[in-house]
Amino acid sequence: MMKIKQHDEIIQAEMKVTFAKQSLFVNLYLIDGILVDTGPSSKANEVIPLLKSWDYDQVILTHHHEDHSGLAPWIEKNMDVPIFIHQQGVDLCTKRAKLPFYRKVFWGDRKAFNPDILPERLNGRKYEWEFIHSPGHSPDHVALYNQQNGLMFGGDLYVLGKPKSLFAFEDASILMGSIQKVLQYDFETYICSHAGIFKDGRKMLQRKLDYLEEVKGKVESLQQRGCSQREITKTLFPKKHALNYLSMFENSPSYLVKSFFQHNHV
Ligand SMILES: [Zn+2]
Repeated sequence: MMKIKQHDEIIQAEMKVTFAKQSLFVNLYLIDGILVDTGPSSKANEVIPLLKSWDYDQVILTHHHEDHSGLAPWIEKNMDVPIFIHQQGVDLCTKRAKLPFYRKVFWGDRKAFNPDILPERLNGRKYEWEFIHSPGHSPDHVALYNQQNGLMFGGDLYVLGKPKSLFAFEDASILMGSIQKVLQYDFETYICSHAGIFKDGRKMLQRKLDYLEEVKGKVESLQQRGCSQREITKTLFPKKHALNYLSMFENSPSYLVKSFFQHNHV
């Protein structure tokens, strides 16, 4: 299932994938002759007609994950446009993605391709875009900033306002630093790869930062009282969620706690 929406100069294609009663959304966007992410290969039948008919001169990947880059190999083969990713993502894309089962089911495979290194700035057709390296979700993650319009394409910086779990490859401390960095830019509209477009996006991102700060404080105070990482996880996040099980705990509350737990105590 796919929905196409238009918000001023942004065209949004919203895709929904469902497995084991769990639905996940992912978006791709077209603005200023730039395709932001490609959609997952599990949605090839619906997305490829867009990739053929939409008018764009370049593709920018917010990061290398398969739900964002899954159809980049198809674009490389069939369309004559450059594909950019942050330099830390280049090597990750030149190999076929090794994915756990549930991610293959939701998003499909991601074959190898050869993206170019994203510069710090690029010109679209009308606007200049600046790219903000913003790791925490992945090492190669970037946000796309358009100063003239006050737009921030934040990739997977937001996704959820109050996450109760994290993926094994994420680090909430690093993510907080990236959110702080992005909040230094002047924008109001925030465009999330999964949750969609928010007019009051700055406030939303600030609230997520406040929430993570609060979790961090709780983890630290429990640790000072002598609790182990496991005990803290059980205390703060006693419930397990469907995605925790479905992901075989690649997504788990323990990774959120781990992000703030100090391991260097003797
Ligand atoms: Zn991701």
